[in-house]
Amino acid sequence: MRKVETTKIILPENRIPEYWYNVQADMPNLVDPPLNPQTQENVGPEDLLQIFPQALIEQEVSQERYIEIPDEIRRIYQQWRPSPLFRAHNLEKKLGTPCRIYYKYEGVSPVGSHKLNSAVAQAYYNKREGIKRLATETGAGQWGTALALACQMFDLQCSVYMVRISFEQKKFRRSFMEVYGAECIASPSSQTRIGQKVLLEMPDTPGTLGIAISEAVEDAMGRDDTNYALGSVLNHVCLHQTVIGQEVKLQLEMVDDYPDVVIGCCGGGSNLAGITFPFIPDKLKGKNVRLVAVEPAACPTLTKGTFAYDYGDVAGLTPIVKMYTLGHSFTPPGIHAGGLRYHGASPLVSQLYHDGLLEAKALGQKGVFEAALLFARTEGIVPAPESSHAVKAAVDEALVAKEEGKARSIVFNLSGHGHLDLAAYENYFSGNVQDVNYTTTDIAENLKNLPVK
Ligand SMILES: *Cc1c(COP(=O)(O)O)cnc(C)c1O
Repeated sequence: MRKVETTKIILPENRIPEYWYNVQADMPNLVDPPLNPQTQENVGPEDLLQIFPQALIEQEVSQERYIEIPDEIRRIYQQWRPSPLFRAHNLEKKLGTPCRIYYKYEGVSPVGSHKLNSAVAQAYYNKREGIKRLATETGAGQWGTALALACQMFDLQCSVYMVRISFEQKKFRRSFMEVYGAECIASPSSQTRIGQKVLLEMPDTPGTLGIAISEAVEDAMGRDDTNYALGSVLNHVCLHQTVIGQEVKLQLEMVDDYPDVVIGCCGGGSNLAGITFPFIPDKLKGKNVRLVAVEPAACPTLTKGTFAYDYGDVAGLTPIVKMYTLGHSFTPPGIHAGGLRYHGASPLVSQLYHDGLLEAKALGQKGVFEAALLFARTEGIVPAPESSHAVKAAVDEALVAKEEGKARSIVFNLSGHGHLDLAAYENYFSGNVQDVNYTTTDIAENLKNLPVK
């Protein structure tokens, strides 16, 4: 019989953070300002007010270190926060590593991922400013599901443009959104001008997040009662996710530990920001903690992209932002980690990576699935394919440390569970998962279309 140890580090409910941590107060170089896509002038708040509530625009540009979390949001957070931090004893044993491996489990939220942390905040501020309906896009479906539930909590309507390949492959994700009362539309759709245009030019496109974003933004710009909500990338989304890292710090204090390395997978960058940003002040004060972003080799934004101004979407409706990008027309192959298929990365994450405060690595799908299975078979939780990138990176760190005879403390964000991603696992079992690698020439081709500045 195996002796199953579990160390589950839980904080009492009254330790839910009272503030979001705003890294803009501490970063050595602020991000370059977003530009209007038409004029290439600095974006004014008027531009943004068309699609975002005032409160979120203020958070977007705020340089206050701590921004108070409204009580109503903290009360909602109580349903799944503070989320547990687990020590992965069984995984450690299996790897024979002297390291201490911890994972912060965000899959305990009712939608199964970290995304609800920001969805609730966004729905709250939109409701407070009189908005009746939110339009958004979703790749794999997690964000759409989170926003659908958050809208339901605040009695808002919700329309979700879902990247077509996911719409077709992930029927249960659609149902999940519909259960929460949202309308789910395959993107590109015939409901928007940009959708019609793309359908005409590329009738067989699997869709991309960039196209879906264009559709949702067009929808929100066309109606006074409707705003737009984004599940990642933006500063205010990263801000909302910092409850994760703040809790991790308190939880590690409870067991008298401090991490040598903190790891998060990176799509748009929000769960990574959430777990790593609260460690940035320590790092700036000289603490030796490594903060690592993990992306798929099939969509290698940080490791192979360029740091430049680019559109957030395909149609060029969003502000131009300075970020690591593969080019807004980049169409990643239909890899299974749908939530990691965005062409850009959060400007905050990009700037911090550029300044050497974050590291990045890209991993192939096969190794990621192997690590996911190892994790599920030792720790019992089936990780989301996105989160599995962080699992694999943590396993690699633990094996390197074993070689070096070092007992390091490794923490990663298990951003969600994979219960609705079993089709991806099935694909892996039947040998249909391939590793994709890009050469710099492939990527240079897409980078030709960057808006100039
Ligand atoms: C959406 C998603 C991601 C990727 O988005 P980020 O903004 O980079 O965090 C990662 N993991 C899960 C479970 C997701 O749902």
